[in-house]
Amino acid sequence: MGSLYGVNIETLNGIGKRRAELFNKLNIYSVGDLIEFYPRRYEDWSVIIPIEDAEDNQTVCIKATVSSYINSVRTKGGRLLTKFSAFDETGAVEIIYFNNKYIDSMLSYGETYLFYGKINRNISGYQMISPMFSKKENSNGMHPVYKQTQGLQNRVIENAVKTAISMLPKVINDPLPNVIREKFNLCDYDFAIKNIHFPKSENDLQKARKRLICQELLILMLGMNNLKNRDKTKTTLKLKKDFTEEFYSLLPYTLTDAQKKTIKACIDDMMFNSCSMNRLVQGDVGSGKTAVAAAVCYNAVKNGWQAAFMAPTEILAEQHYQSLSKIFKEKNITIDLLTGSQTPSQKKKIRENIASGKSDLIIGTHTLITDKTEFKNLGVVITDEQHRFGVAQRAKLLSKGENPHLLVMSATPIPRTLGLIIYGDLDISIIDELPPGRQKVDTFLISGKLRQRACNFIKKQINNGNQAYIVCPLVSEGEADLASAEEYAAELMLKEFSDIGIGILHGKLKAAEKDKIMKQFESGELSVLVSTTVIEVGVNVPNATVMMIENAEMFGLSQLHQLRGRVGRGKEKSYCILVSDNENPDTLNRLKTLCKTNNGFEIADADFLQRGPGDFFGERQHGLPQLTIADFADKTNIEISKEMCNYILNNQDEFCKREINTLNACIKRLFNKGGSNIMN
Ligand code: ADP
Ligand code: MG
Repeated sequence: MGSLYGVNIETLNGIGKRRAELFNKLNIYSVGDLIEFYPRRYEDWSVIIPIEDAEDNQTVCIKATVSSYINSVRTKGGRLLTKFSAFDETGAVEIIYFNNKYIDSMLSYGETYLFYGKINRNISGYQMISPMFSKKENSNGMHPVYKQTQGLQNRVIENAVKTAISMLPKVINDPLPNVIREKFNLCDYDFAIKNIHFPKSENDLQKARKRLICQELLILMLGMNNLKNRDKTKTTLKLKKDFTEEFYSLLPYTLTDAQKKTIKACIDDMMFNSCSMNRLVQGDVGSGKTAVAAAVCYNAVKNGWQAAFMAPTEILAEQHYQSLSKIFKEKNITIDLLTGSQTPSQKKKIRENIASGKSDLIIGTHTLITDKTEFKNLGVVITDEQHRFGVAQRAKLLSKGENPHLLVMSATPIPRTLGLIIYGDLDISIIDELPPGRQKVDTFLISGKLRQRACNFIKKQINNGNQAYIVCPLVSEGEADLASAEEYAAELMLKEFSDIGIGILHGKLKAAEKDKIMKQFESGELSVLVSTTVIEVGVNVPNATVMMIENAEMFGLSQLHQLRGRVGRGKEKSYCILVSDNENPDTLNRLKTLCKTNNGFEIADADFLQRGPGDFFGERQHGLPQLTIADFADKTNIEISKEMCNYILNNQDEFCKREINTLNACIKRLFNKGGSNIMN
């Protein structure tokens, strides 16, 4: 099979240079690609309708004999028109094709075919335009419908696939080893390929699908595992002394057991492992991940390394800079902040400090990993809110320094099954405990009619000396009816909170302005912060006790949960008010999940069930290879594939070299598809 990836589709009968280009548009370059171009859906040709019973506009399969010579003429407009009639025992139909110069060579007078397509009924009788057709003997059943592109019809693809399949060798190197197929009761590759394209029955199709889905997921998981292990060359970066106890004494609070356990896992990684740390910390909002990062930084610096701590936004980087500076203030550690909005000369100076080793701990945004930044002695890299960093970015990070230790922190709980895949390349620690004394954020769902009352409630909180967030989905008016931060704030200032300090925060503001507003809010100078989702990640103002979210239906549940995590950070009771005028019961039910639970993992599961995996990544930000048949929401098959993956990894000696090589070739192909070259 492998060799067919090297055979250009142009070598197939009926595919010339021009057609090949059309196939290329569908990302099909080789015969192997074509074999893996699975149908989108199927048409059922097994139910044959008598012409007489067909209804106008119905999609039907009829069995009819061509009863006139097949005539092609040019219309005045220059189109090629092919027309003939056909009949069965009940009636006749006129069949028409446009611009298809091959039709008359493919169909013949007096022969019987199955025709599949839309039928029209008018005064002059029945008519079918460009139906698909097939010689009756071999097509009683399901027909594949492929993704098409302009100028490349389904029939052409179907025939090309048929030819491609006929080129499969008699004995195929099945990507799934025998042992695995037997153990997990999956059909062989030959059966799967033939039946995914031309299933003999629904049952066979399902068998084929299941096998191909599991295969793809398995290949993905094995590939992720390779990524995890590929840089496992021996590290020279080993902690000599553990400074964690000393670190504890710098904090004004006692760490939770979950935090301590996580820190210990990191220290163990860096002290005893022969390879660099490659660890993910997953912890719900407010679980205290920053303290874990700080502990790791402290150990690194005290052992003579540099540490880099990256955040996805400048606000967050600034905040980490402030809070770590505070913790370490007595400790003679040089901390620097490096962000995109600093002036070139500032950046230059800080980069010099980093390169010379003057800076011990560097906190910043993505700027930190640009090629311009050189480290003297980088020992560990920490990235906060890792769902914004894809697999490829993680790889880039690791190219800085001599394979530094890597810790990624995520506040987005991921459903377990999905985590199995996306975090396949990382060891995982979960902080499953919140610091003591945290209260549940009471959450309410209201319609716009109750907004006035909600505002009164917010005013009451403010009069008690607390602060409030109001979140809107958009920056400025443009899309109808969506509350926009700017206009919304203007209106509030006039109407509701005329005597109260309001700040507006959104992504389009200059960094310095954002900074100023954030500081004013942190210091309490501003009581209300009207904001787009820029506050979603990490912002920490414990005095804020209420958040109102407008157009709540616009957000994913996990995102709302993140937003809500901005309140309930202090000692006082906190509230979240979701405003939505949406009337769709499904939408409202979805939002009510948040009123019921504060557990991020539960919410992630609900979100995943309802909206699929897109929410967890944004637009393909996960950096994973694109799947052709499997799907990240397919829990059942993900579980099965994980078992297969573990079995293969744990029982390597049961597989022969050929089987391992075949799997490896598949991994390489999947990960390098679309030129992503994640894996070399
Ligand atoms: P997140 O996990 O969302 O990043 P943070 O690290 O921002 O959470 O911590 C949230 C708040 O909880 C901060 O104000 C932090 O100082 C505080 N905190 C963290 N750990 C503890 C703890 N063990 N006990 C009390 N407060 C803590
Ligand atoms: Mg955080």
